[in-house]
Amino acid sequence: MSSIRFQALKEASNRKLVEFQESGRKSVLFGANVFNDKAMKQYLTSDAFKGVQGAVQHGTKIDRKLADYIAMGMKEWALSKGVTHYTHWFQPLTGTTAEKHDAFFETSYDGSDPLEKFGGAQLVQQEPDASSFPNGGIRNTFEARGYTAWDPTSPAFIFGTTLCIPTIFISYTGEALDNKIPLLRALSAMDEAATEVCKYFDKNVKKVTATLGWEQEYFLIDRSLANSRPDLIMTGRTLLGHTSAKGQQLDDHYFGSIPTRALTYMRDLEQECMLLGIPVKTRHNEVAPNQFEFAPIFEETNLAVDHNCLLMDVMQKVAERHDLKVLLHEKPFKGVNGSGKHNNWSLATDTGVNLLSPSKTPMTNLQFLTFFINTIKAVNDYEALLRGSIATASNDHRLGANEAPPAIISVFIGEQLTKVLAELEGVSTGKLSPEEKTDLKLNVVGKIPDVLLDNTDRNRTSPFAFTGNKFEFRAVGSSANCSNAMTTLNTIVAKQLRDFKTAVDDLIESKDMKKDDAIFNVLREYIKQSKKILFEGDGYSEAWQKEAAKRGLSNFKTTPEALKARASKQAIDLFSEMGIMNQIEVEARYEIELEEYTKKIQIEGRVLGDISKNHVIPTAIKYQNTLIENVKGLKDIFGSEFESIAKEQIILIKEISGHIEGINSKVEEMTEERKKANNLTDAHAMAEAYCNHVKPYFEIIRNHCDKLELLVDNELWTLTKYRELLLTK
Ligand code: ADP
Ligand code: MG
Repeated sequence: MSSIRFQALKEASNRKLVEFQESGRKSVLFGANVFNDKAMKQYLTSDAFKGVQGAVQHGTKIDRKLADYIAMGMKEWALSKGVTHYTHWFQPLTGTTAEKHDAFFETSYDGSDPLEKFGGAQLVQQEPDASSFPNGGIRNTFEARGYTAWDPTSPAFIFGTTLCIPTIFISYTGEALDNKIPLLRALSAMDEAATEVCKYFDKNVKKVTATLGWEQEYFLIDRSLANSRPDLIMTGRTLLGHTSAKGQQLDDHYFGSIPTRALTYMRDLEQECMLLGIPVKTRHNEVAPNQFEFAPIFEETNLAVDHNCLLMDVMQKVAERHDLKVLLHEKPFKGVNGSGKHNNWSLATDTGVNLLSPSKTPMTNLQFLTFFINTIKAVNDYEALLRGSIATASNDHRLGANEAPPAIISVFIGEQLTKVLAELEGVSTGKLSPEEKTDLKLNVVGKIPDVLLDNTDRNRTSPFAFTGNKFEFRAVGSSANCSNAMTTLNTIVAKQLRDFKTAVDDLIESKDMKKDDAIFNVLREYIKQSKKILFEGDGYSEAWQKEAAKRGLSNFKTTPEALKARASKQAIDLFSEMGIMNQIEVEARYEIELEEYTKKIQIEGRVLGDISKNHVIPTAIKYQNTLIENVKGLKDIFGSEFESIAKEQIILIKEISGHIEGINSKVEEMTEERKKANNLTDAHAMAEAYCNHVKPYFEIIRNHCDKLELLVDNELWTLTKYRELLLTK
């Protein structure tokens, strides 16, 4: 029987393009499967509609009676679209989304009177039998269960024949068991703190919304080829495989014309996104072969996070229709670029102002500078925590690997704004003279929009870069739920804005300063205090590693190291003070993330052990036997002369034996290290052991396997090769 590799190659080369035709204009399709304002106006009474609006805009509670009405309308809408089931859709701490479908269908106790039923109770709350979700010890499985509760700020949607209701997931004792609750709390803290600060500049501002536009990178691989690799299926990445002779060296893929099959997939996916109200806008090839990117128009952060979670799910489902597989892992292939998810972030007021966009008048520019500098200060003070928020086993491959942002968090602001900050730093202490104020307003604060227009340089090596009207957090992993990063970022900036307000008010009251003077004075101090975080140079360079160490910036290269900041005293104090998470919740998350790390490395270790012993070694022996037969034959024919004639074959035979020995002994040693690690009881110690004692074997074992791949007859090699995975379109 030919190996699964050759079957897969045959299937891949015989593929017929799956045709796709758009069924209408994007503007018409957009949101057709979303219970949005338009649908609500049609299916809800005006009271029910107002109830939802109030909950979305002002967080007002929806009572049970009203919930019944809303549920009724939602059900009618869903049934009119052929929906049969509903589910609470939530984001447990597994990093993915979860759903449990229930039919709308009900009968009486004796099986008679079948009807479609869905009431307020089912809309508002559900109790999934979800005792197996990670909870970090919060929820004692036999004592209390968690329940899901409707999040009206993210609209219900239909996927396939299921009505999906975005919900939070919470324990009966009130602790968050998901990614959404802390995010919602952080966004609300941000709203409160930023609105207060906005009032210095515009009394009409009543609400500030954090906005998020993610850019999703991914690989698209033929489904049969992907399925032929047990490592891809089980770990999301290739644990071995010699690099392809042709990879990304020629830069011929990046922004190139999109291959037909990939483009057809994207069009199909975009249509699904339109129906689901996910405003995807941009698509292009990325740097590595078969690597692509999708980016939406930015949205309110909670909605944007839900949409990204949904997208990651839908991407995979649409891919099946095209016999493709989406790889969201941060580093599916060695030797070519990995994938990230840039998080573009800003703040918008309900009066329509982007607070991170410089504008025309000195006054609004002072507002811009206020938010700009406060963000820098927040990142400066909490850089380690921010680094911790993006730490995962898979993202470790990317950070610091000379292709993605380094593991050191720093802020890039560009030459022009660097100059502006330098000028502001020179502002006199105390009350400003009228001349100084005029000069500042005319020549420093007033000139920002002009200078920014020329400021087109973008530093791609920076993990946190100002890009004209938003910050771009580039270190987020491609497979990550953006919640962790967004909860952390919004919390630290909210805390910073709160402190800023206190400091300014204090100067106004106790020092009798004018508002502007007080703001300039506080900002000046912040600039002085935040110098270490600003960096304009090459983030990949050796010199920066040294410089950053000198500045006292953290540089955590591995997840176990980076995660420590997530449960530090600083983190616990911050999250409790801001009402985002209490100590129990913070520590539970820390525990869960450590465990997840350990499990991921454990699985990789097992899979690598399996493949190298069950695929690679048997194949190598088969080939070695052919060589041995050959040598024997040469000896028969040539007698004593054979030694010189069979010289190369004999070298190969020895070389193969050397690698087989290498694999066997290293897999054994690795297994021993796993056993030792498994005996540890402390979650952090276990994660460290996996990181420092188990993981280092991966590269060594892989090296032997990859060398064998080069030696062994191509016809015998059972594992689909890099060139086949990466260059099959
Ligand atoms: P790139 O960074 O690749 O050059 P763009 O700058 O055009 O691309 O935008 C990237 C992403 O930034 C898009 O998803 C876009 O919606 C988002 N974005 C633009 N403005 C904002 C904003 N004010 N808040 C959040 N995201 C934004
Ligand atoms: Mg970008």
